[in-house]
Amino acid sequence: MPKSKEIYNFSAGPAALPDAVKQRIQAEWLDYQGLGVSVVEIGHRSVQFEELYQQAVQSFLELLELNADYEVLFVHGGASMQFAMVALNFMHSQKAAYVNTGMWATNAIQEARHYGQIEVVASSEEQNFNQIPNIPKLNQHFDYLHITLNNTIYGTEFHQLPEVQNNLPLIADASSNILSRRLEAQRFSMLYGGMQKNLGVAGIGFAIIHKSLLRPTKTHIPALLDYKSYVKYESRCNTPNTFGIYVTALVLDWIRQTGGVKKLEQQNIQKSELVYAQIDSSDFYTCFVKIGSRSRVNVVFSLPSLELENQFIQQATEQGLLFLKGHRARGGLRASMYNAMPISGAKKLTKFMQAFEQQYG
Ligand code: PMP
Repeated sequence: MPKSKEIYNFSAGPAALPDAVKQRIQAEWLDYQGLGVSVVEIGHRSVQFEELYQQAVQSFLELLELNADYEVLFVHGGASMQFAMVALNFMHSQKAAYVNTGMWATNAIQEARHYGQIEVVASSEEQNFNQIPNIPKLNQHFDYLHITLNNTIYGTEFHQLPEVQNNLPLIADASSNILSRRLEAQRFSMLYGGMQKNLGVAGIGFAIIHKSLLRPTKTHIPALLDYKSYVKYESRCNTPNTFGIYVTALVLDWIRQTGGVKKLEQQNIQKSELVYAQIDSSDFYTCFVKIGSRSRVNVVFSLPSLELENQFIQQATEQGLLFLKGHRARGGLRASMYNAMPISGAKKLTKFMQAFEQQYG
């Protein structure tokens, strides 16, 4: 069915998928690779599924410029389940360092506290999470340092990676900016997150783990929470979310065909700069995030009153600019522009912002 108007989806997650991916799902739905059945009706160990799985793993490694020292795993339960899994699997001496940059980081800390001693070594809580804090040199022993690379709710993002000493493993929740920018991925011992922003559908996550991190633990970990069982069974300890893995495989393919992470990064810079420039050029819109910490994928901003914000959302929706409401914990507005958002979406948003300001500013 043709679209009556151009729709741009600014949802923070589950978020927009590339049109090409949705079209491919539709085209393949009734007949996957000439089998006459759909991809969700075949076994997770079938030849056809095995092929798409292995391709997805290879694409992921290539796009992150990582070698076979890393395992690529597809994990049940989204990002939040891994808050506990990271601690359960890697807090061998029961002491870990965390950086608190917002609600998701706080949730990761709270989960990890059940399994050992957590030290919050840097936090921007006192600044209402409007910036990425400086991380001090860590002199004591920790099992790992955990950061949240992009803070979806508060619109902040690490633009410089922390320097770690003495081979301290660096672990990051990369849910909202994975493959949206080039990353020195080899500086991490682990990257993990949910798929539903840049990589596919909700309820399934990724874990990219350096093999050196995968050591035996002192206590038993339930199989489905143990990264080693995901390695052993190539993410298929039991029946996985095959549709989720399939969609991610298609998104990874799309990223490669679109020109890779470098090209998407340039587009993401361009999109976010367009919207930030619009905000900064007026007194009507404000962005509370400190320059230098601003996210390229979640642009968070406010208007002079709640009433104007509600009007903005209503009129934007009528014009096909969807889901611009900020997270309930933060309020205001939020334009989430992950890889699938074309530059034309950011342009349409800035034009709408100009027109709205002219009318109400
Ligand atoms: N971490 C970050 C940075 C997120 O943005 C989110 C979801 N918005 C989560 C973790 C939680 O993800 P999930 O709902 O998949 O558990």
